[in-house]
Amino acid sequence: MPRLFAHGQGSRFGFFSGIHGDEWSVIASVQKAILTHQAQLGSFIFIPECSPSAIQLRTRQNGEGLDLNRSFVKNPQSQEVQAIVTQLQPYTFELCVDFHEDGQHSGVYMYDSLNQEGSPKLAAFRAAISEVASLYSGIDDDMDEKLGGEINQGYKVSSPPEKDQTGEYVYEGFFDHWALIQGKTKHWMTLEVPEKMAQAQKDQIVELFFQTMILS
Ligand SMILES: [Zn+2]
Repeated sequence: MPRLFAHGQGSRFGFFSGIHGDEWSVIASVQKAILTHQAQLGSFIFIPECSPSAIQLRTRQNGEGLDLNRSFVKNPQSQEVQAIVTQLQPYTFELCVDFHEDGQHSGVYMYDSLNQEGSPKLAAFRAAISEVASLYSGIDDDMDEKLGGEINQGYKVSSPPEKDQTGEYVYEGFFDHWALIQGKTKHWMTLEVPEKMAQAQKDQIVELFFQTMILS
């Protein structure tokens, strides 16, 4: 079982990192931000290392040879996915956020299951990040978490879970889609921090994300 930290009564927020083992250094940034803001956050759970075996290997694929973020299917075979599913069983959330690192792009960006384009929150996020880093704009590619479409100034509305011809949801294996389909949360955001950044800058990006997109 991955370690799960619970704070407060209930579960307003779900925070997840360490889904991909080669994206381990952002975990410390998330831990710092959560520690800084835990009183203000109220109730939340945090799983810092969603895939303990991938973190140990420091590879994208886990010890089962799987990309964890392609393994949240309807009947998951991955033991690490099964462990998370079991751990999340008692919880539903207002907002879930997962934290990743991007090895290709040098700019910061995020995916959002709700369209917040034009909102003061997103404007504040863009302004704050722009002070310390660049915001990525461009096309997604096949290295990305969710394929297709364009990222605009560090922001993209993620494609919703699709349904097949019979009206059944298609589980593509993404953690966020799984949680949305299962009704675990109504809202999911994914932050992507450039892998090549210095640790202090990663800390700063995650801190600013918490200030603008989560706590405001
Ligand atoms: Zn990732």
